[in-house]
Amino acid sequence: MRNAVAVLAALVLIAGGARSAAAPRPVVVLDPGHDLRANPETEPIGPGSSTRKIKDGGGTHGVVSGLREADLNLAVALRLRALLEHAGIDVVMTRTRTAGTSIGNIARARIANRAHARLFLRIHADGSTDPSARGTHTLYPAYRRGWTDDVYTASRRAAAIVQRALRSSLGFPDRGLQERSDYTGFNWANVPVILVEMGFMTNPTEDRLLATRAHQLRAALGLCRGTLQFLGRPIAACG
Ligand SMILES: [Zn+2]
Repeated sequence: MRNAVAVLAALVLIAGGARSAAAPRPVVVLDPGHDLRANPETEPIGPGSSTRKIKDGGGTHGVVSGLREADLNLAVALRLRALLEHAGIDVVMTRTRTAGTSIGNIARARIANRAHARLFLRIHADGSTDPSARGTHTLYPAYRRGWTDDVYTASRRAAAIVQRALRSSLGFPDRGLQERSDYTGFNWANVPVILVEMGFMTNPTEDRLLATRAHQLRAALGLCRGTLQFLGRPIAACG
C-alpha cells in the first residue's frame, strides 16, 4: 500500500510539474476563523500530544455592532481572496460561508498542508473583558522540534511583514507580534502559518470601524500587501 501511494504521489508530481512548468502560481490558504457554531469537541494540540484543547470556542462579537466575529473574518477573507487572485495568487479557503459547526484547527491546518500553501493566513478579530483593549497584533508558532521547527523562521518573518502592512492599512494601535506554543492550528501546520487579530470587537471604536465595508477593505488590502511582500512580489498588484 505504501508503495502504491508512493507511485501515485510520483505520478501526481510528474503531472503537476508538466502542467505548471511555465509559471507556477503560489498558493495561499485563507482561514476565516470560527463558523456559525462553536465546536466543543477536543483535539490534541500537536501531533502525538496528550494535551487536548477545544476545537473552537466560537469567537467574539461586536460590542456595538453585534456583528459575529465569524462573519467579519469571512467578509475580510472573501475581499482578500479577490485581491490576491487578481494579483496572480491561487487561493484556497478553509470555508466560504458561515453556516455550520466549526471544523476545528487540525482540519484547518490539514487543508493548508494538502494545498502546499506558501502561507497559511488565519484571520481573526479579538475580544477582551476590558473594553479599552484595542489594536492589531499577529501571532506565529513558537519553536518546537518535531512540530514547528520546519516553519518557525518563515512564519516569524511572515508575521512581522504582515503585521506592519495590516497595522498601517487599518491605522489601529500596534500590539506587535506574539509567539504561541499552544495553538493547535499552528502545531499541526507543515507550511508557514500566522494568525492576525485585526482589532478588538469588544472595543467600541474598533468594532464600529471593522463593521464598515471601508475598513474591511482596508484590512484586506493590508493583508494582501503583506502577503505579496512575504512572497517577494510587488505589492502594487493589490491595487
Ligand atoms: Zn477568533
